[in-house]
Amino acid sequence: MAAQEDLIYRLNRQDEIVFVNEAWDRFALANDAPDVTAEHVLGRPIWEFITDLSTQQIYRDLLARVREGRSVRFPFRCDSPAERRFLEMHIHLMEDGQIEFRTQTLSIERRPAVPLLARQASPSRDLLRMCSWCKKVFADGEWVDIEEGIERLRLFEAPALPMITHGMCDHCAVKMAEILAAM
Ligand SMILES: [Zn+2]
Repeated sequence: MAAQEDLIYRLNRQDEIVFVNEAWDRFALANDAPDVTAEHVLGRPIWEFITDLSTQQIYRDLLARVREGRSVRFPFRCDSPAERRFLEMHIHLMEDGQIEFRTQTLSIERRPAVPLLARQASPSRDLLRMCSWCKKVFADGEWVDIEEGIERLRLFEAPALPMITHGMCDHCAVKMAEILAAM
Protein backbone atom coordinates (compact mmCIF):
# COMPACT_ATOMS: atom_id res chain seq x y z
CA MET A 1 0.00 0.00 0.00
CA ALA A 2 1.33 3.46 -0.86
CA ALA A 3 2.07 5.68 2.11
CA GLN A 4 -0.93 7.84 2.94
CA GLU A 5 -0.49 11.45 3.91
CA ASP A 6 -1.60 12.39 7.44
CA LEU A 7 -4.95 14.21 7.70
CA ILE A 8 -4.64 17.30 9.87
CA TYR A 9 -7.00 19.86 11.34
CA ARG A 10 -6.44 22.40 14.11
CA LEU A 11 -8.67 24.20 16.60
CA ASN A 12 -8.12 27.57 18.25
CA ARG A 13 -8.94 28.28 21.91
CA GLN A 14 -12.61 28.83 21.00
CA ASP A 15 -12.84 25.32 19.51
CA GLU A 16 -13.11 26.78 16.00
CA ILE A 17 -11.49 24.97 13.08
CA VAL A 18 -8.70 27.27 11.92
CA PHE A 19 -6.68 24.94 9.68
CA VAL A 20 -7.11 21.81 7.58
CA ASN A 21 -4.38 20.46 5.31
CA GLU A 22 -4.71 19.62 1.62
CA ALA A 23 -4.80 15.90 2.35
CA TRP A 24 -7.92 16.54 4.44
CA ASP A 25 -9.71 18.16 1.50
CA ARG A 26 -8.69 15.37 -0.86
CA PHE A 27 -9.89 12.76 1.65
CA ALA A 28 -13.25 14.54 2.07
CA LEU A 29 -13.83 14.76 -1.69
CA ALA A 30 -12.81 11.13 -2.24
CA ASN A 31 -15.25 10.03 0.46
CA ASP A 32 -18.38 11.71 -0.80
CA ALA A 33 -18.22 14.42 1.87
CA PRO A 34 -17.73 17.69 -0.03
CA ASP A 35 -19.48 19.50 2.82
CA VAL A 36 -16.46 19.16 5.13
CA THR A 37 -13.75 20.66 2.91
CA ALA A 38 -11.79 23.71 4.05
CA GLU A 39 -14.14 26.29 2.54
CA HIS A 40 -17.07 24.84 4.53
CA VAL A 41 -15.43 24.20 7.89
CA LEU A 42 -12.87 26.95 8.47
CA GLY A 43 -13.99 29.37 11.18
CA ARG A 44 -16.77 27.11 12.42
CA PRO A 45 -16.83 25.47 15.85
CA ILE A 46 -16.10 21.75 15.87
CA TRP A 47 -19.38 21.20 17.76
CA GLU A 48 -21.35 21.85 14.56
CA PHE A 49 -19.86 18.65 13.17
CA ILE A 50 -20.31 16.37 16.18
CA THR A 51 -24.02 15.98 16.66
CA ASP A 52 -23.99 12.87 18.84
CA LEU A 53 -24.11 13.98 22.49
CA SER A 54 -22.00 11.19 23.99
CA THR A 55 -19.30 11.74 21.37
CA GLN A 56 -19.46 15.49 22.08
CA GLN A 57 -18.93 14.89 25.79
CA ILE A 58 -15.89 12.71 25.09
CA TYR A 59 -14.41 15.38 22.83
CA ARG A 60 -14.97 18.01 25.55
CA ASP A 61 -13.13 15.82 28.06
CA LEU A 62 -10.34 15.18 25.56
CA LEU A 63 -9.91 18.86 24.66
CA ALA A 64 -9.81 19.89 28.34
CA ARG A 65 -7.02 17.42 29.01
CA VAL A 66 -5.07 18.34 25.89
CA ARG A 67 -5.25 22.01 26.93
CA GLU A 68 -3.58 21.01 30.19
CA GLY A 69 -0.65 19.91 28.05
CA ARG A 70 -1.32 16.19 27.79
CA SER A 71 -1.48 14.45 24.43
CA VAL A 72 -3.47 11.42 23.38
CA ARG A 73 -3.19 8.75 20.71
CA PHE A 74 -5.81 6.13 19.91
CA PRO A 75 -6.78 3.80 17.07
CA PHE A 76 -10.15 4.16 15.33
CA ARG A 77 -11.98 3.07 12.18
CA CYS A 78 -13.24 5.24 9.34
CA ASP A 79 -14.60 2.83 6.74
CA SER A 80 -15.81 3.57 3.26
CA PRO A 81 -18.27 1.28 1.46
CA ALA A 82 -15.44 -0.74 -0.10
CA GLU A 83 -12.66 -0.41 2.47
CA ARG A 84 -11.96 -1.11 6.11
CA ARG A 85 -9.67 1.68 7.22
CA PHE A 86 -7.62 1.38 10.40
CA LEU A 87 -6.48 4.79 11.52
CA GLU A 88 -4.71 6.32 14.47
CA MET A 89 -5.59 9.73 15.91
CA HIS A 90 -2.99 11.85 17.66
CA ILE A 91 -4.21 14.95 19.49
CA HIS A 92 -1.76 17.41 20.99
CA LEU A 93 -1.33 21.03 22.04
CA MET A 94 0.84 23.22 19.82
CA GLU A 95 3.05 26.06 21.08
CA ASP A 96 0.62 28.76 19.98
CA GLY A 97 -2.22 27.18 21.98
CA GLN A 98 -3.97 25.53 19.04
CA ILE A 99 -4.92 21.88 19.25
CA GLU A 100 -3.84 19.66 16.39
CA PHE A 101 -5.73 16.52 15.34
CA ARG A 102 -3.51 14.35 13.19
CA THR A 103 -4.85 11.15 11.63
CA GLN A 104 -2.41 8.57 10.36
CA THR A 105 -3.48 5.62 8.22
CA LEU A 106 -2.24 2.36 9.73
CA SER A 107 -3.71 -0.02 7.15
CA ILE A 108 -6.51 -0.39 4.61
CA GLU A 109 -8.29 -3.62 3.65
CA ARG A 110 -10.46 -3.90 0.55
CA ARG A 111 -13.81 -5.66 0.93
CA PRO A 112 -16.93 -6.15 -1.21
CA ALA A 113 -18.80 -2.84 -1.15
CA VAL A 114 -21.26 -2.46 1.74
CA PRO A 115 -24.17 -0.35 0.44
CA LEU A 116 -25.25 0.62 3.96
CA LEU A 117 -22.26 2.95 4.22
CA ALA A 118 -22.97 4.72 0.94
CA ARG A 119 -24.61 8.08 1.44
CA GLN A 120 -26.96 7.60 -1.49
CA ALA A 121 -28.69 4.60 0.08
CA SER A 122 -32.33 5.51 0.46
CA PRO A 123 -33.16 5.20 4.15
CA SER A 124 -36.19 3.71 5.81
CA ARG A 125 -37.62 5.01 9.07
CA ASP A 126 -35.95 2.40 11.24
CA LEU A 127 -32.85 3.50 13.05
CA LEU A 128 -29.76 1.37 13.11
CA ARG A 129 -27.22 2.11 15.83
CA MET A 130 -23.63 2.31 14.65
CA CYS A 131 -20.56 3.03 16.78
CA SER A 132 -18.96 6.16 15.33
CA TRP A 133 -15.52 4.99 16.50
CA CYS A 134 -15.19 1.35 15.41
CA LYS A 135 -18.17 1.17 12.99
CA LYS A 136 -19.75 -1.84 14.65
CA VAL A 137 -23.54 -2.05 14.52
CA PHE A 138 -25.99 -3.13 17.21
CA ALA A 139 -27.78 -6.33 16.26
CA ASP A 140 -29.56 -8.93 18.40
CA GLY A 141 -28.37 -7.31 21.62
CA GLU A 142 -24.67 -7.07 20.80
CA TRP A 143 -22.18 -5.00 18.85
CA VAL A 144 -20.91 -6.78 15.72
CA ASP A 145 -19.01 -5.91 12.52
CA ILE A 146 -21.16 -4.33 9.86
CA GLU A 147 -21.02 -7.35 7.53
CA GLU A 148 -22.25 -9.56 10.38
CA GLY A 149 -24.93 -6.99 11.31
CA ILE A 150 -26.26 -6.94 7.74
CA GLU A 151 -26.72 -10.69 7.88
CA ARG A 152 -28.27 -10.78 11.35
CA LEU A 153 -30.68 -7.93 10.68
CA ARG A 154 -31.46 -9.24 7.18
CA LEU A 155 -30.98 -5.71 5.95
CA PHE A 156 -31.08 -6.56 2.28
CA GLU A 157 -34.42 -8.26 2.61
CA ALA A 158 -36.00 -5.05 3.90
CA PRO A 159 -37.49 -2.71 1.27
CA ALA A 160 -35.21 0.17 2.30
CA LEU A 161 -32.06 0.40 4.32
CA PRO A 162 -32.43 1.72 7.86
CA MET A 163 -31.12 5.16 8.75
CA ILE A 164 -27.93 5.10 10.74
CA THR A 165 -27.71 6.84 14.09
CA HIS A 166 -24.23 7.25 15.50
CA GLY A 167 -23.18 6.63 19.07
CA MET A 168 -20.56 4.61 20.80
CA CYS A 169 -20.49 0.89 21.45
CA ASP A 170 -19.84 -0.48 24.93
CA HIS A 171 -16.33 -1.60 24.04
CA CYS A 172 -15.29 1.82 22.73
CA ALA A 173 -16.94 3.58 25.67
CA VAL A 174 -14.82 1.52 28.08
CA LYS A 175 -11.68 2.03 26.00
CA MET A 176 -12.25 5.78 25.82
CA ALA A 177 -12.84 5.98 29.58
CA GLU A 178 -9.51 4.18 30.06
CA ILE A 179 -7.73 6.57 27.71
CA LEU A 180 -9.17 9.56 29.55
CA ALA A 181 -8.30 8.10 32.96
CA ALA A 182 -4.71 7.47 31.84
CA MET A 183 -4.18 11.00 30.51
ZN1 LIG B 1 -17.11 0.97 18.95
